[in-house]
Amino acid sequence: MRYCRFLHNNRPAYGAIEMRDDAYAITRLLAAPEEDLSAQMGPQSTPPADCDFTPMALSAADLLPPVKPSKIICVGRNYREHAQELGNEIPAEPLLFFKPPSSLLSPGGAVVLPAASQRVDFEGELALVVGKRTRNLGAGEDWRSVLRGFTLANDISARDLQKKDIQWARAKGFDTFCPVGPFVSDELDPDAGVTIETRVNGELRQQASTRDLIFPIPLLLRYISAAFTLEPGDLILTGTPSGVGPLHAGDSVEVSMAGLGGLINTVQAEDH
Ligand code: MG
Repeated sequence: MRYCRFLHNNRPAYGAIEMRDDAYAITRLLAAPEEDLSAQMGPQSTPPADCDFTPMALSAADLLPPVKPSKIICVGRNYREHAQELGNEIPAEPLLFFKPPSSLLSPGGAVVLPAASQRVDFEGELALVVGKRTRNLGAGEDWRSVLRGFTLANDISARDLQKKDIQWARAKGFDTFCPVGPFVSDELDPDAGVTIETRVNGELRQQASTRDLIFPIPLLLRYISAAFTLEPGDLILTGTPSGVGPLHAGDSVEVSMAGLGGLINTVQAEDH
């Protein structure tokens, strides 16, 4: 199952994603994931899944974030070489922080560089999409049954403010600091080792395997659900590999992974 969220006739809709002629296409409309219905906004609800729809290229769609999380939970320093490149110790247990849902940004949207920061970095990450309410996942339980699927995210970070503020709420939480998408897929096996890559203006800057995660996904889900009740649609960013670096106005940044497509965003300066 692969799906995206996009504007169809100026209304948010869900679409099924399939490969057509070596490119991703939206082939039909889907009903909203059941757990998202309560989050629908008034009359601008999802059109019925059976209404007329002409398949279109994913690249031509006006995409929205494919999830509506009640919270965005992030894991810091979960790749050895990235912890070391910032001069940090390898953590003994997962380091968690939040991004606010107001930081979500659509695929194709512009990351806005806040005037308050002189150094804003990209961090390409594999993200988990929660599929059912979960508290205290047990060691013997099927962690895959907790997830609706996987997607890509960019954990945009104001590096100078992260150091200055000590608490990371502002540095990680500005509006537009959580690009996510382009779609959600459950057809991925991160245990097999899938390569995540980040490119800035087409130049490869990050490349690592999901096998290199210090704390693997089942452990993260147990650790996180021991602290917070996970709700359907919640997003978990699993950490970034080495190679992080600054973004500048006019840049284009792409996070990609085989099976999850490419999450492309532009970068612009804050208007005054
Ligand atoms: Mg990160």
